[in-house]
Amino acid sequence: MQYDAIIIGAGMSGLAAGIRLAQQDRRVAIVEKHYVWGGLNSFYGKDGYCFDVGLHALTNFVPKGTRGMPLTRTIKQLRLRYDDFALGQHGHSEILFPGAELRFTNDFEVLTEEVARVFPSELDRFVALAKEVRETAWDERPTTFSSARSELARRLRNPMLAEMLLLPTCYYGSAMEDDVEWDQFKVLFSSIFLEGLARPEGGVRTILNLLVKRYRKVGGELLMNNGVARIAHDEAGVRGVILDDGSELESDTVISSAGLVETMQLCGRATLQREVQPEDRGRLTFLESISVLDCSPESLGHTAATSFFSTQSRFDYHPPAEHCDVRSGLVSSPNNFAATQPIKDQILRMTVLANGNRWAGLGPEDYAAQKELEANRAVDALIEFTSGENLRGARRQNWNEHTVYRDIFTPKTIQRFTSHPGGIVYGSPRKRKQGETPIAGLHLCGTDHGYLGIVGAMASGCIIANERLLAPVQLS
Ligand SMILES: Cc1cc2nc3c(=O)[nH]c(=O)nc-3n(C[C@H](O)[C@H](O)[C@H](O)COP(=O)(O)OP(=O)(O)OC[C@H]3O[C@@H](n4cnc5c(N)ncnc54)[C@H](O)[C@@H]3O)c2cc1C
Repeated sequence: MQYDAIIIGAGMSGLAAGIRLAQQDRRVAIVEKHYVWGGLNSFYGKDGYCFDVGLHALTNFVPKGTRGMPLTRTIKQLRLRYDDFALGQHGHSEILFPGAELRFTNDFEVLTEEVARVFPSELDRFVALAKEVRETAWDERPTTFSSARSELARRLRNPMLAEMLLLPTCYYGSAMEDDVEWDQFKVLFSSIFLEGLARPEGGVRTILNLLVKRYRKVGGELLMNNGVARIAHDEAGVRGVILDDGSELESDTVISSAGLVETMQLCGRATLQREVQPEDRGRLTFLESISVLDCSPESLGHTAATSFFSTQSRFDYHPPAEHCDVRSGLVSSPNNFAATQPIKDQILRMTVLANGNRWAGLGPEDYAAQKELEANRAVDALIEFTSGENLRGARRQNWNEHTVYRDIFTPKTIQRFTSHPGGIVYGSPRKRKQGETPIAGLHLCGTDHGYLGIVGAMASGCIIANERLLAPVQLS
């Protein structure tokens, strides 16, 4: 079967690339290994509950009609309707460090006032930093690398403020250990603090259903539950793909959202060995527990939509030696976003850093026990830390005794459902900022193109489709 383009993966970036191409009358097939679409931001049912895999908050929130921003520009490119995303904004979120608490909302003035309250001598420098971020175009793609930790140290005098700004950007999108690329930091700072956080009512399914419906409406083909086993290529470039069931699809354009290392592996051992260096292999992954409560998170003192926390003044952001590092992380609740209808279940989600190799090495019984142990340890660590802090609002209470159901997923689960080795979430630390690969006609989109999160991944799909295939036509 001959296609204008074949796309590997029906995650956010693959679906967006597919829509862009199909609505320009290209013959496109998206091939997805899993039986559910969404990839790292999918959903699943268990024991009568339906959970989102990777949705704490949609970053990049801007109000309807805001021009030229990633969310609105992407929605326009995909010819979707803003209102159909049914976005409810967070009431507030917070960053908690020893002796310091910063709240923020989608009104940037709130964070500015908080910085003035907690770090008064830093206010002018913080305002200058925000101005610098505002003046950087979100799709500017510098090829030089610099470290956000070093750049922030040059711009701010109080290291604690720098750490407090770094932590959310690391947890929401850094593939680098203990740091963020400076240009990536600026994108993430803007997407979290200058733009904002929201949640689609109905969860991530709301967005995925819109994407899949639109893709099919414009004539795209979606092959589910049938992965790409191999990418066929020769000296002239890519030739197509061979699927797990042995069938072949032909095209001289393949867009892969599977990740850099994964894509090179699909090209064969020689390509993998030649093109992938040890520093291309990311290691950052997480353990996440989802607790269904018998009362509202708010009644237990958890009023923030998202709480980023570190029990140390300088946080570690690398795979721990043990199964998990519970000294930092984030807690989020879908119930603390605005919604027209109350959510059926009361939920708290907790995310901490995990070691993919450690989890992979456990047998079934040890694995089940370790999951429970680590999820409990994480909650206990947060509660112990917050009870020693002089925080605003009611004391945060341990929610384990109010939990009526809990599901926990680990790097092993993430690997099983997304095919990312080791359950790596943010891909390679060395991004391919033009989506480039050494094989002509083979392009990367999504995570390893360097655009992360729901909106980032969708934007990446549009950009790769536009720049690599549609550049000669008039873009709308
Ligand atoms: C626990 C967690 C929490 C997160 N929280 C948030 C959040 O709150 N907000 C936010 O914006 N983002 C969040 N993210 C990040 C966000 O989910 C990702 O950045 C984004 O979904 C990446 O999309 P993608 O299309 O680039 O890649 P992926 O989602 O990885 O899509 C790749 C797809 O390719 C498929 N695939 C792989 N190999 C093959 C093959 N050989 N053949 C066929 N198909 C293949 C996979 O099954 C997958 O569906 C979170 C992620 C996780 C895991």
